[in-house]
Amino acid sequence: MHDFVVVGAGPAGARFARSAADRGRDVLVLEQGEIGLPLACSGHVSLDVWEYVPDEARDELFQNDIYGARFHVGGPETAGEPFYKREVISNAIDRVGLDKALARAAGDAGADVRDEHTVTDVEERRDRVVVTASGPDGVDVHEARMVVGADGPRSRVREACDLPEPREFLHGVLGFDTEPDAQDYVDVHLTVPRFFAWRIPRGDDGVEYGLAAKPGDDVSGRFDRLCEEYGVTLDRRCSGLIPIGPPKRVTGHRSLLVGDAAGQTKPFTGGGILYGMRAADHAAREVNPEWPATLDDYEDAWRSELKNEIRLGHAVRLAYSLPRPVQRAGLRALSGEIAVHMDRPSTLFTREGLRALVGR
Ligand SMILES: Cc1cc2nc3c(=O)[nH]c(=O)nc-3n(C[C@H](O)[C@H](O)[C@H](O)COP(=O)(O)OP(=O)(O)OC[C@H]3O[C@@H](n4cnc5c(N)ncnc54)[C@H](O)[C@@H]3O)c2cc1C
Repeated sequence: MHDFVVVGAGPAGARFARSAADRGRDVLVLEQGEIGLPLACSGHVSLDVWEYVPDEARDELFQNDIYGARFHVGGPETAGEPFYKREVISNAIDRVGLDKALARAAGDAGADVRDEHTVTDVEERRDRVVVTASGPDGVDVHEARMVVGADGPRSRVREACDLPEPREFLHGVLGFDTEPDAQDYVDVHLTVPRFFAWRIPRGDDGVEYGLAAKPGDDVSGRFDRLCEEYGVTLDRRCSGLIPIGPPKRVTGHRSLLVGDAAGQTKPFTGGGILYGMRAADHAAREVNPEWPATLDDYEDAWRSELKNEIRLGHAVRLAYSLPRPVQRAGLRALSGEIAVHMDRPSTLFTREGLRALVGR
């Protein structure tokens, strides 16, 4: 019997598998398709991402350095208010390559990572979990002490283990223009109800355009208009769901959720790569598969690191719904050099963060 069966080899599942295997656990990872595909993510991340990536993968994943963002209360024709640092804030990276590098690292640590295996059923019993998967050679049944649902926003594990859903889902859509662009700024357009549209320069890999909105709120029409306003015709488009607001519980009797399955994302950007991996590390450290009571320790640990940031992230997101004149005045007053970490809105309230805001 395995210690853990991990469903999904995205960043959260692969990171959990690596951390748990490093601790000597027997870990089986089942991924439904080719690792990293289909792409549905900008791969715009804080520099913290490099703590999780093996050194040798760094050069192949890096695309562009980002120093700041221009916030627009309107489309590309409006002047944006710049928020920036003198040093690099974030990177645009190859997201497909990231998943592959993280899965390789999990395999190197001793996890058994199998792609092309779709989990179709999960049964939690008193003393074990039984996971059914279909793969190239037919249907397999795996037994483990625990199952880890790292299977993204529409998690099958979450549903099978009767765990609650995240509070909200957004529908994100993005597309790529091949024209190289290595400028230092991303553009953010506060033109979408309760969220935003974006433009990310990706160096030699071109430019990405995207937006996220409530599902059903004319997401593709809005995206077409964004592309028209920028005067671009995109050859590659993709889309995915973004969960916002983790549910009250992400653990069951012998089950736990990590990453998007658990709604571990930043409410003000939808970014979940780093929160998911941080939570995965807590899970691997706290959960002893022989002792289901340790699942509570995982709940406590990840919430104590991320709960406050997520709460502040919700507060930041409220600003996207302010009346336009207030947004304009606020952006004008606050723009300039900042000292905020892009994953931690709490850094706004550090001495350095406040000094940067009031000292201009
Ligand atoms: C348009 C868009 C842009 C985004 N941009 C960013 C960004 O710039 N920065 C950022 O940090 N985040 C971004 N995100 C969010 C980010 O993509 C997610 O937070 C992140 O992928 C979550 O990782 P995960 O491992 O939890 O889930 P996922 O990456 O979704 O991985 C889940 C894995 O589970 C597999 N799976 C699902 N069901 C099964 C099954 N039944 N059996 C086996 N395998 C299964 C899937 O194939 C997938 O590989 C974006 C999201 C969207 C939609």
